[in-house]
Amino acid sequence: MAAMGAPEVKSIDELGERLRLYMDPASINQVRRAYLYAEQAHDGQKRRSGEPYVTHPLAVAGILAEMHMDAQSLMAAMLHDVIEDTEVEKNAIVAQFGEPVAELVDGVSKLTQIEFASKAEAQAENFQKMVLAMAEDIRVILVKLSDRLHNMRTLGVLRPDKRRRIARETLEIYAPIAAKLGMHNLRVEFEELGFRAMHPMRADRIESAVKAVRGNRHALLENIRLQIEERLQKEGLVAMVSGREKHLYSIYRKMSKKSFKDIMDVFAFRIVTNSVDSCYRALGMVHGLYKPVAGMFKDYIAIPKSNGYQSLHTVLFGMYGVPIEIQIRTHEMDVIASNGIAAHWLYKSDKQAAHLTGQAKAQQWIKGLLDMQAKARDSIEFIENVKIDLFPDDIYIFSPKGKIFELPAGANAIDFAYAVHTDVGNACVGCRIDRQLSPVSTPLQSGQTVEIITAPGSQPNPNWLDFVITAKARTAIRHFLKNRESNEAVNLGKRLLAKAVSNLGKDLSELPATAMAELLADMKISEEQLLQEIGIGKRVAYLTARRLVAQPDESSVAQGSDSPLAITGAEGLVLNYGNCCRPLPGDPIVGFISAGRGMVVHLATCGNVAEHLHNPDKCVPLAWSDEVKGDFQSEIRIDYQNERGLLAKMAARLNDAGINIEKIRTEEVDASFGAIYLLISVKSRIHLARVVKTLRKIDAVLKVTRVKHY
Ligand code: MN
Repeated sequence: MAAMGAPEVKSIDELGERLRLYMDPASINQVRRAYLYAEQAHDGQKRRSGEPYVTHPLAVAGILAEMHMDAQSLMAAMLHDVIEDTEVEKNAIVAQFGEPVAELVDGVSKLTQIEFASKAEAQAENFQKMVLAMAEDIRVILVKLSDRLHNMRTLGVLRPDKRRRIARETLEIYAPIAAKLGMHNLRVEFEELGFRAMHPMRADRIESAVKAVRGNRHALLENIRLQIEERLQKEGLVAMVSGREKHLYSIYRKMSKKSFKDIMDVFAFRIVTNSVDSCYRALGMVHGLYKPVAGMFKDYIAIPKSNGYQSLHTVLFGMYGVPIEIQIRTHEMDVIASNGIAAHWLYKSDKQAAHLTGQAKAQQWIKGLLDMQAKARDSIEFIENVKIDLFPDDIYIFSPKGKIFELPAGANAIDFAYAVHTDVGNACVGCRIDRQLSPVSTPLQSGQTVEIITAPGSQPNPNWLDFVITAKARTAIRHFLKNRESNEAVNLGKRLLAKAVSNLGKDLSELPATAMAELLADMKISEEQLLQEIGIGKRVAYLTARRLVAQPDESSVAQGSDSPLAITGAEGLVLNYGNCCRPLPGDPIVGFISAGRGMVVHLATCGNVAEHLHNPDKCVPLAWSDEVKGDFQSEIRIDYQNERGLLAKMAARLNDAGINIEKIRTEEVDASFGAIYLLISVKSRIHLARVVKTLRKIDAVLKVTRVKHY
């Protein structure tokens, strides 16, 4: 849109005048109200140029008005620095201007914060994606781009170092975003301003060289333009013919490959017509006027470029062999070529499109591109990129040092930790999200800074598997647990085997080394494998022991069997506790070996093991070690007489006793009697007894019993 270069809006009345061209009076009033609010909020603040601060948001709104953006976008532009720079909070904006405007303002503020927080370097690509990912509404981007444009236009008043930093960021981040959204005019202005700020000397030199060339050629250029125009008119074709300027930054970039003379030795024109048909007719006419250069004709109308750009391109032999480049397109194509996504606000202001949200318009834009792609049957990778960028499945997270990590949406600190490094994940014990201690399972959001707290020697928690979403984290955690499980299995296997050997009246450590070596050679496995298989219950320790102790002394078998294997509760994943009887430290217990599941600990009186109790292949006598650790689950049944607030009373007592309730199930016997089943975790049988005792003291409690499922 040629309007991009319109002069800066200097007063709210002037903006109101411009808005009357496309906005209803009520909406204009809303924009005006937002302006007054911003004026008050920024009262006393000045821009570096000395002007009142509010001139900046006003100018940003003016830029959006050139794109015919809606009232909400303009209101957000008025308020975009209010949260950042003044006392005003988001809630106040919600109350004054409604949720959608507040969301837009919030989105723009977040992008602004990131600009200043990030030390990221050479990650422009990720940064671009992050900016797009953070904006849930595409209008946030358009407000942000306009904000940046006004800042670039008024860059001159800043300190040189700050000027260069902003200019570089504009060239690396914002110009490419404008290009992705097809906003050619905006991109060119970003590049020109950025280039001048980064390399003022080079820009000056190229500019004066361009001026010199242009001065020499002016008459010639105008001559050719008139020839083309006359020819079209003679054939009755309505069209606008204009010369095209080359931009300094694009000349600068081309100069690494071509000489300045070669770049400038081209005449370039654009013909804008009323219809597609006229485009092709105009093409025929200019081909009749000058001889076309073979192989240079391109039909981007039939096969549009990836960002939706449509035009006919041709090159002609001009006088003295100087090539003439010509672009031919319709008015509508011209608008889209210049404005990209913003064209939807600019020219689709019909009733149907008016109610669409920003995101819906973005969808519509992409749909338009996809339709074109379907017609062209041309693979357009670009569109895929735009789609991914506008509706991202990814989030972008900063490390404390400013490095950007790309993660799938829904990822949390554990996923992030493993993305940083497997060792960081394995040693993770907590995290800070934007400097606040937070649960590691909290889903992260784009733009957050995440710091992983590690502790040497700590280990991944199996519960993490419930919420991590990246394959990398999942695999690393599983791998670690599997290793740990196998170590635990080897340990238990060794103890089980030693126990079984001692039951046969021998001592494992005193057996001749050859006995073990022969057995392993016979079985064709390693010692570690053997012990692991015993540990997980794949092999029976008793049978292995029998083979190891070739000729057991019958009398000693009986003697050895009364010292049971001691367990500590810290055997980890290879030792399970029967859900039928839920043994507690202090209870008499046995180990039941089940293939694949490893050893399951049961009460010695559990009905489920009764018939195997004297089968050494299946059952191992066990005892609790003196240093039992950890919590054990126990299920109790409480028979009660109905009383108001009973459950609360019980919960309070359990809490006082340091007991966690893990599950509650109630069973009503009749109107006045009932039973409650509680799954609680306790330290030992004695601990449980104390709990039962306190519960029995409650009047309404009739009976407390341990639950047995056998
Ligand atoms: Mn601003």
